[in-house]
Amino acid sequence: MLEVKNVTKAFGGVVANSDVSFSFEKGQIVGLIGPNGAGKSTMFNMISSIFPPSSGQILFNGTRIDGLSTYKIAPLGISRTFQNLQVFKNMTVLENVMVGHHIQTKSGIVAAALRFATVKREEKIMYEEAMKHLAFVGLESLVDVKAGNLSLGKLRLLELARALATNPKLLLLDEIAAGLNHVETKEMSQLIQKVRDLGISVFVVEHDMDLVMTICDKVIVLDQGKKIAEGTPKEIQNNEQVITAYLGADDEAVG
Ligand code: ADP
Ligand code: MG
Repeated sequence: MLEVKNVTKAFGGVVANSDVSFSFEKGQIVGLIGPNGAGKSTMFNMISSIFPPSSGQILFNGTRIDGLSTYKIAPLGISRTFQNLQVFKNMTVLENVMVGHHIQTKSGIVAAALRFATVKREEKIMYEEAMKHLAFVGLESLVDVKAGNLSLGKLRLLELARALATNPKLLLLDEIAAGLNHVETKEMSQLIQKVRDLGISVFVVEHDMDLVMTICDKVIVLDQGKKIAEGTPKEIQNNEQVITAYLGADDEAVG
């Protein structure tokens, strides 16, 4: 379903991704891990067409998507969450999910809010869809609460509901469990598996190795922009190069 072929991304002199190739099949949960600065978010940004690769190709169900306009990505069936929360604090939980259709773009959250104001007519369908996804993540009792009053754990669930609101075939989760406690992380793991059981493929960037090793069918490891390993969680845990990359990382925050 997703094929990344020889993708390189340079920002000036910084090579964030260097000749990275991998692919994955429908129905899988795939993990993307590596020390901070390894290029994980950059890869997600290219798959969601925030910016194009410097070279290489990205195919989704056989169609090239690298370099597509951002607004064409969600209709194809790719949705994502962001490493930094993108929540409208003064909107309710429900409203935040209802803007989900409009937030998957480069123009960002302000433009999304403006567009949201113009789509009142479509509101009924959006309402029903939003409620469905909020129930799925377990936030149905909080739909009228202002997002600014939610705990971090609930905010992450809100982001997940919003990403699901575009009915993706492929969901990219960039550090969705960051900052969550042990119990919340466990619940998030179960929820991600529930998403996969709906037939949605999930690509996760995550710090929490327990989560990654428990739920992923396959793990891809980046280090300094290069893919250094790919395999089952078990293979990755025993891979010398991976162990060295993590031990060599100069801070404890790896993901
Ligand atoms: P990760 O998500 O694995 O921590 P990133 O993909 O965010 O890593 O970053 C990889 C490298 O690319 C870093 O050196 C980072 O500073 C650089 N980088 C990422 N995005 C940009 C950008 N938009 N402009 C310039 N440099 C960037
Ligand atoms: Mg990142």
